[in-house]
Amino acid sequence: MTATVPFVSNGAAGSNGIGKLSSAVSARIRERLQESGVSFLANDNIADHLQPGELAELQLEVADKVRDLLRSLVIDIDNDHNTHETAERVAKMYLQEVFKGRYHQQPKVASFPNVKQLDEIYTVGPITVRSACSHHLVPIMGNCWIGIKPGARVIGLSKFTRVADWVFSRPHIQEEAVMILADEIEKLCEPQGLGIIIKAQHYCMKWRGVKEPQTSMVNSVVRGDFRHDPSLKQEFFELVRQQQALLST
Ligand SMILES: [Zn+2]
Repeated sequence: MTATVPFVSNGAAGSNGIGKLSSAVSARIRERLQESGVSFLANDNIADHLQPGELAELQLEVADKVRDLLRSLVIDIDNDHNTHETAERVAKMYLQEVFKGRYHQQPKVASFPNVKQLDEIYTVGPITVRSACSHHLVPIMGNCWIGIKPGARVIGLSKFTRVADWVFSRPHIQEEAVMILADEIEKLCEPQGLGIIIKAQHYCMKWRGVKEPQTSMVNSVVRGDFRHDPSLKQEFFELVRQQQALLST
């Protein structure tokens, strides 16, 4: 894999001042967000408030801090060939991959007028859910199903996957993740009815803590007609059950 920002070693940072500059970038962004009264919780997206080049600077700053973390864990990063560039890898992973939904713009999703006035419900799933818990920053892995009763606009099926990936690629708690995804889908296609089910395993329960490897968490949200019409809600859950049954055959 190729790094997207130049690697600046500690020595280089000290001698040319880049390290000093990069260490200030998060403070600069934070100040800007606070001045505009913009929320920057773990599961918020701040892409609109980043200036060109700041993400690369941020990646350098985060790498510096991860290096400090490794040193605080008393790992000999100067002599351990395995952890020599771990700080750079972790910084890149956070900002460009697993938490990209905080720092990058939403993928472009075109919506189209619902010219045929389709109003039959459909479900999409399973969509893979990859996130991290806000409490421990360890993975949450699972599946999500989305049910739609179309409204004025429609979007392509693959777009649900793209939007879900963008929303989940942030530190989350599952209860809030499902609400944020529902908000984004409503903004994109204004469905008459929307339902989302998430079933996920939390590594903070599997890997640490109670170390319960099989436990999963299931939660859902229903909006619009799915909320007001019990038979439609029932139909949504039945369609998802059928999709799950197909998976196990
Ligand atoms: Zn946790």
